[in-house]
Amino acid sequence: MLNASGMNKEGRSGHELGMILCKKCGSLIATLPTNGVTKIYGVCDKKTCQEHRPAAGSK
Ligand SMILES: [Zn+2]
Repeated sequence: MLNASGMNKEGRSGHELGMILCKKCGSLIATLPTNGVTKIYGVCDKKTCQEHRPAAGSK
């Protein structure tokens, strides 16, 4: 088992290296305090990004 308390000491504040990016428009949604740079893709609050675009028949 890892000693979690030792890991929490670093990156407690000011170490927000994890980024949640909108996969639709590419804007930064939020940051997460993680160990190491991490990019997570999600969808932001924009209506245009929230909407699903079912590409029915196109392709
Ligand atoms: Zn977006």
